[in-house]
Amino acid sequence: MVLDKLGQGLKEALRKVTGAGYIDKDVVEELVKDLQKTLLTADVEVKLSLELTEKIKDRTLHEKPASGMTPKEHLVRVVYEELVKFVGKKPEILLKPHRILFIGLFGSGKTTSIAKLARFYQKKGLKPALIGCDVHRPAAMQQLEQLAKQNNIPYYISKDTKDPLKISREGMEKLKKYDILIFDSSGRDALDKELAEELKKLGNLVKPDEVLLTISADLGQVAGKQAAEFNKLVGITGIFLTKMDGTAKGGGALTSCAVTGAPIKFIGSGEKTDAIETFDPERFISRLIGFGDLEALLEKAKEAIEPEKAEKMAERMTTGKFTIDDFYEQIKSLQKMGSLQNVMGMIPGMGTMKLPKEFDATKQEQKMKKWKYAIESMNAQEKENPEIINPNRIKRIAKGSGVPEADIREMLKFYEQSKKMMKLVSSKRGMFSKLAKKFKGF
Ligand code: GDP
Ligand code: MG
Repeated sequence: MVLDKLGQGLKEALRKVTGAGYIDKDVVEELVKDLQKTLLTADVEVKLSLELTEKIKDRTLHEKPASGMTPKEHLVRVVYEELVKFVGKKPEILLKPHRILFIGLFGSGKTTSIAKLARFYQKKGLKPALIGCDVHRPAAMQQLEQLAKQNNIPYYISKDTKDPLKISREGMEKLKKYDILIFDSSGRDALDKELAEELKKLGNLVKPDEVLLTISADLGQVAGKQAAEFNKLVGITGIFLTKMDGTAKGGGALTSCAVTGAPIKFIGSGEKTDAIETFDPERFISRLIGFGDLEALLEKAKEAIEPEKAEKMAERMTTGKFTIDDFYEQIKSLQKMGSLQNVMGMIPGMGTMKLPKEFDATKQEQKMKKWKYAIESMNAQEKENPEIINPNRIKRIAKGSGVPEADIREMLKFYEQSKKMMKLVSSKRGMFSKLAKKFKGF
């Protein structure tokens, strides 16, 4: 999942504490040290990390646990609460007609994120449209056009002019029946006067309700500086933090942005159009420290697959029953939802589980085809009770489907693992609701 290492470090630090006989100063000191080490690896600024751990220390040692709460529970609560505060506030996401201007440096992910956000709003039943005002990059218009076409998003671009103001005016006129207008803009290698001027003029004309700055998370703690600069020179209403999937430095990017006061509103975690989520500090931290977020998963599942199927899937997750057909349906929907590892990060207790190496995203599609043929060559009995599939049956299925035996064995192995996961999910579901109740009582 996003920020694997940071999550693991936090989890381990907390596990040590909950494993300790009782909570005293030494235990708290050690926790503080562990936390600092972990935060450092995520590129969190030293000063911020010290402030955070001081607060945690102070509260655990001096605050009285709420009635009915053990010192250990108190400590976990303090760590959780302080981490949540540390990464920012829950942002407001406008779900009504409005205009959004995207700004950001070259390659920070503007155009990609614009397509993601448009899809996000489409799924919410709104009607977004895009206007391409990046007149600097030669291929920028084509990129926007391509993304818009791929995702069925109305758009306006102009290849005859280099004037972003003219394009915006024409675009607003042509697309005025749409709910949400999203404007792409030009980037630069760095924020200079020229860019600031251009963006200001564009802002004055468009009068956006939102000015979203895209920043790549791999900048680590430098992200905050960039956000502050843009905020000062152009003014932003929120941050779209991109590329959280590909960096260990995301913690630094998140926390340094949080202290600028400009809220992180969205997180991008992949190149695909569905790799977007709204930033929710509580959800983010509970996922990071391993409480998972089954609700987020189910919400996403509902969006990715038809409602009846989603319901069935949720039902199966709770009963633990899981046939080969379910397995097949599920991989299909998981593909729609994004990478499996991502999805697993949302399931309680599963963030740390690793998928078999060979199941990487690039080979996913190819493999799916083979698995599909193999599954089609299985008979009803085998699909219902895959345990009966012995080497002889594998041979027969391989012949019938043209799929190598090794692939079939691998598919069965993966099925077994998924089945175990499903069982775990159904057993953890109870735990999750208990935990959720506990946190509500905090
Ligand atoms: P722009 O110059 O600001 O418009 O940036 P682009 O939208 O063209 O993105 C630059 C590169 O970053 C492209 O290759 C995108 O596919 C990639 N990218 C954007 N967002 C993400 C993300 O969240 N994760 C990953 N892994 N790549 C991303
Ligand atoms: Mg672009």
